Amino acid sequence: MLKQINGLHHVTSLASAAQENNDFFTRVLGLRRVKKTVNFDAPEVYHLYYGDETGSPGSVMTYFPFPGAKRGRPGAGEVGTTIFSVPEGALPWWRERLATRQVSGLKDDVVFGESRLYFEGPDGDGFALAEVPGDARAPWLAGGVDADHAIRGFRGAHIRLSDGSATEELLRFMNYEERERADGIVRLGVAGGNGADLIELETIRGASHAWQGAGSVHHVAFSVDDRARQLEVRKALADTGYSVTPVIDRDYFWAIYFRSPGGVLFEVATNEPGFDRDEDTAHLGQALRLPSQHAHLREVLEEKYLEPIRD
Ligand code: ZN
Repeated sequence: MLKQINGLHHVTSLASAAQENNDFFTRVLGLRRVKKTVNFDAPEVYHLYYGDETGSPGSVMTYFPFPGAKRGRPGAGEVGTTIFSVPEGALPWWRERLATRQVSGLKDDVVFGESRLYFEGPDGDGFALAEVPGDARAPWLAGGVDADHAIRGFRGAHIRLSDGSATEELLRFMNYEERERADGIVRLGVAGGNGADLIELETIRGASHAWQGAGSVHHVAFSVDDRARQLEVRKALADTGYSVTPVIDRDYFWAIYFRSPGGVLFEVATNEPGFDRDEDTAHLGQALRLPSQHAHLREVLEEKYLEPIRD
């Protein structure tokens, strides 16, 4: 079994409008935009990153906003809900804040004893805030959200599958252990993890497969400390029969990707070098950063494709 994985590193989703996406995560949820760059494989599209002050692994929600993209259709084989951690007692304040800002899908629930407020992102994205006592991660304080309420980072992800058993086996191999199980949902966590270390697997037999579009999670990335550990994980997954990509340089982390048995694209990303690699912490996310292979495209990208984002 692997011991290198700490929990989530980032979650990457699709959106239909960069400005709206930016406003929701910075002004409504109070996260910090920690990087404004482009999709390395399609540089005419932004890649926006939101998280805590430095974009700590386990706090980073990222988006590819394809202008005018059609909404996805929820179903099996995807991350259905991305769950953020907030302090105990914070949910009534959030309910009021989100309702005031016309956020859709507000619903209170208790899951395995944990109070949650479900809500939707601008493209119908499935999110929840969960009250987690004693989450010691430092919050980013902005957008009128104070320390008693601010998001600490991810709590984890809720994955819907038509059969969760093979993915459960994979996650156990990846350092997750069972915490609870009820009503077709198994809850797994990493002992001594990074706080963003919860995965819920829900089996919905006979569910139709999700169709990916705006509001859908594109992939979920797991965190390892460094490149050496990433190579150990890569070898172990390949030895187990998974088809894993070579290590890819994403400028702010190194990434490997593979398809999990239930259909969700998994990534394993390094905590090094981090988002302050090419700009100082005080100015993270402000300027458009281009990877070196696309630097020569700056003029055309800024003039023709990337609509400026107003902060
Ligand atoms: Zn990724």
